[in-house]
Order: sequence, then C-alpha cells, then structure tokens
Amino acid sequence: MLDLTMTINGAAATSTTWSTVVDPATEEPVGRVPDCTPEQLDDAMTAAQNAFPAWAADLEQRRAAMEACAVALDHAAEELGELTTREQGMPLTVAVASARGAASSFRRYAALELPTETVQNDESALVRIERRPVGVVAAIKPWNFPLGMAIGTIAPAFRAGCPVVVKPSPFTPLATLRLGEILRDHLPPGVLTVVSGGDDLGRAMTSHPVPRAISFTGSVAAGRSVNIAAAADLKRVLLELGGNDPAIVLDDVDPATVAESLFWPTFSNAGQICKAIKRLYVPESMHEEIVEALAERARAVRVGRGTEPSVEMGPINNRPQYERVRELVAEAVDGGATVAAGGTAPDGPGLFFEPTVLTDLADDARIIEEEQFGPALPVLPYSDVAEAVRKANATNFGLGASVWSNDPLRAAAVATQLEAGTVWVNTHGPIGSTAPFQGVKSSGLGSANGIWSVYAFTDIRTVYQARSGANVYQAPEAVATTTELGTEG
Ligand code: NAD
Repeated sequence: MLDLTMTINGAAATSTTWSTVVDPATEEPVGRVPDCTPEQLDDAMTAAQNAFPAWAADLEQRRAAMEACAVALDHAAEELGELTTREQGMPLTVAVASARGAASSFRRYAALELPTETVQNDESALVRIERRPVGVVAAIKPWNFPLGMAIGTIAPAFRAGCPVVVKPSPFTPLATLRLGEILRDHLPPGVLTVVSGGDDLGRAMTSHPVPRAISFTGSVAAGRSVNIAAAADLKRVLLELGGNDPAIVLDDVDPATVAESLFWPTFSNAGQICKAIKRLYVPESMHEEIVEALAERARAVRVGRGTEPSVEMGPINNRPQYERVRELVAEAVDGGATVAAGGTAPDGPGLFFEPTVLTDLADDARIIEEEQFGPALPVLPYSDVAEAVRKANATNFGLGASVWSNDPLRAAAVATQLEAGTVWVNTHGPIGSTAPFQGVKSSGLGSANGIWSVYAFTDIRTVYQARSGANVYQAPEAVATTTELGTEG
C-alpha cells in the first residue's frame, strides 16, 4: 500500500494520523494519506503567503517554472494515470490522458497574455485596467476528475501570480498528493501546497484568513457553505457546482444516429461528470426508437476495472455515491419507471453499476429533479418543443444544456431559450481552451477556463492618469460646466 506525503513549504509533510483510500473497483485499500492538522494548515498558509510577493513579481520566472512542471508531468503521466484509476476507477486510457492534459494546461496558461486594457485615452485622461494577482488561492476539489480539477485551478492561478493551496477530495487524494511530490522540486517553496483531509479541512481553508480567493468545485450544498464562509472577509469565490443538464432532441434527426451521439456525453466516467447529460427529452414519435437504441448501446458497454484493457466504464467512485444512484433508480422503478437497460449492480466486489436507461417516469421522480451523478439516464417524451423547453428549465441547476437537430435555425431558436451557462448544439460537453465555463442559477458563480480563470484569480486595478488641466473635482462654480463626472464617491 502506498503512503503519500503532503507538500507544505516545498517539503514533504506527514501527520500523526492517516486516512486510507479505497479502490472503488475492489473496495480494497490502495493507499494512505496524512490528515492535515490545524497547525499544519497554518504553516502551509504562512508559507504560501510568504511565497506570494516574489511569485507575483516575476512573470518570466513563473513561465519557466510552469514549463518545468509541464515537462515533469509529461514524464509522470503514466504513473499519475495509474494512481488516478486506482483511486477513482476511470479507465486507464482516460486517466493517463487527464495527466497529459495537466502538462498541456501548464503550457497553455503559461503562454496566455494578459493585456492591460485602455478604456479611455482622450484630452482629459489615460485610463488603463491592470489585473493584479489576488493573493493565495485555496482550491477545494471533488473526486470525479482529481487531477484535471486540481490543475484547472493551479495552472491559471500560477499564470495570474498566485500561490495555491489545494485540497483534493478525501475519496481521491492520491494523484494530487503525488502531483505535489513531483512538482515541489520545480517550484519555489510555498507556491504549491497540497494538503489532505476531509470536509472539515475544506471548512478550515475557507475560513482561514490567508487565502484571498477560494476556487471550489463540488456540490451545490457545499458551494453554498463556502460562499457564506468566504463572505466573512470578502474572499473572491469561483464556484463550479453541480448540474442536471437536459438534452432536447428535435424531431428532424435520425433516432439511431442521435442515440449513438448522445451515449458517451451521458455515460462517460460512469456519468460522474458535472456537465454530463442527466435528463433526455425526446419527441413522442421517436421515443421508442431512441430508448431502444440507447438501451442496446448500454447493454454492449464493457464495465469493469479501469486497469483492464478495453474496459469502457469503471465503477462509481465511492460507496455513498453508489448507494445514492442505486436508491434513485430503485425509487424511480417503485414509482412506475421501466428499466430499458441496466438497473442492477453486478455480483462481486467493487462499486459497479450497469449503464441504465429509464423510461415511463413519474414527472416528479427524484432522478429527474436531482443530480444523479452516475450511470443512469431518464428518457422523457415530449409532445411539443415548448413543453420540452419548459421542463428542461424547470430546475435550480443551470450548468449546461444541448439541442440536437439537423436544422441549424431551429436548433438555434431552441438553444436561446435554455437557462444554462453553456448551450451546445449537436454535441454536449466540449468547452475547448478559450471559452468561459460557468453555471447559472445554483450551478456556480464566476467563469472558469482560459483567460476567464486567470481573471478569477486577479483583482482589477484602474490606473486613471489625468491629462494636464483636467480634473473632475473642481471649484463648485465650475461643476455646472462639467459634462462627465463618472462614478461619484
Ligand atoms: P462535495 O461538495 O461533497 O465535495 C467537494 C470538496 O469539497 C471535497 O474536497 C470536500 O471535502 C469539500 N467540502 C465538502 N463540504 C465542504 C464545506 N462545507 N466547506 C469546504 N469544503 C467542503 O462534492 P463531491 O461529491 O466531491 O463532487 C461531486 C459534485 O461536484 C457534483 O455535484 C458535481 O456536479 C460537482 N462538480 C462540478 C464541476 C463543475 O465544474 N461545475 C466539476 C466537477 C464536479
């Protein structure tokens, strides 16, 4: 069994107590991680704070360090991928790709330019907007893509000039702790801290006085608590929360083709993706054909240990989540739903659950109203598009949504009515490296990805340089002739 260390002030740190991490494919222990103590968290925050001025001051040093991190991650991609599969369950090919993606994220963010914008340049003033790093960033992460989620904060925060203190999920801390071990040789002490612990450690991070921003990815309930805690000293928050994404199929598509395209945006990573399709609305006329095509595809999926070649879908990551998915499916069936495929957990060890397609659901089934975050899809027939749009929007979530049609104008008309931070047409999930990614309603606060993530870890400084003789504040008798005061106060 592996023992991993935290990274505090550039060095390895253990603890007096340890937590065991379990492989969801076997439910056997796979590694141990230290439980970060309050004193260690204080030390970590102090080291991060001390690292901030020099790290913020030198962009070229940051770029060189980020390139060194990328090279180290390229070398370690197989090892990190294997650790990810063992703690998270996903197929090894996906996990290794995620580790390689971490290396390319460092390169992409290092290369990003953050131009100073000039918003006014006339006879009265030159006004420029500068972006300054906000300070130490606390990153609190979930278990569905441990490395990708951690790097999604670390790389843009580094580009902005911020040190990062990251806490992975207690279900999947191994790859992130190993990331700290690998990168600590390539970064100044305190620039990257990796600590391990449970929800209480997350709470201690959000209320700690050092961080100036919290980058939180996880459930809506925890995100709400993070926002409340951060409000006490007005920390900036970037909240990437849950989703219950609807996909609406229009009646001009080929049912078999669309079913094939819908399948993996729904079931990748066993449905444990914030922006997976979680509710599918199909025209009544195509309902049977689409359900049958999805069910056939689901029955053919190779479910198993992510380390085995050719496995397409691993287990659910952890027992509470596994029980939740089973319960949501069982409740739907009790309420009259038909199981078109899956619906059961195979015998034997491991948290496996067959890809499940449900239909004939009651309108108020919990699996429609709540985020299942697992391999079970409710397929819901509609009689007119307005009804589908209304039902798609009838949720407090607002992460993503998609429309599937061969008619671009019809698709665009429906897309504009969907209440979501991202709306896709004829696909579901890709973001690319430049688009902002955000949830509306309860699905988040702030935008991530590309330059938007860098902005999230900066504060604006407006530099207003008066031209000679131009001054807003004048003797009272001159005010009447002033045409533009801008903001008062
Ligand atoms: P979670 O909210 O239970 O935990 C996420 C992290 O927060 C963990 O590290 C946990 O220890 C910590 N935490 C829990 N309560 C906390 C609190 N009160 N204060 C501070 N930290 C706290 O979420 P999870 O079960 O790990 O992840 C699944 C959820 O994450 C799903 O809802 C999924 O949709 C969401 N998610 C969203 C995105 C996105 O980009 N929008 C991406 C991935 C996952």
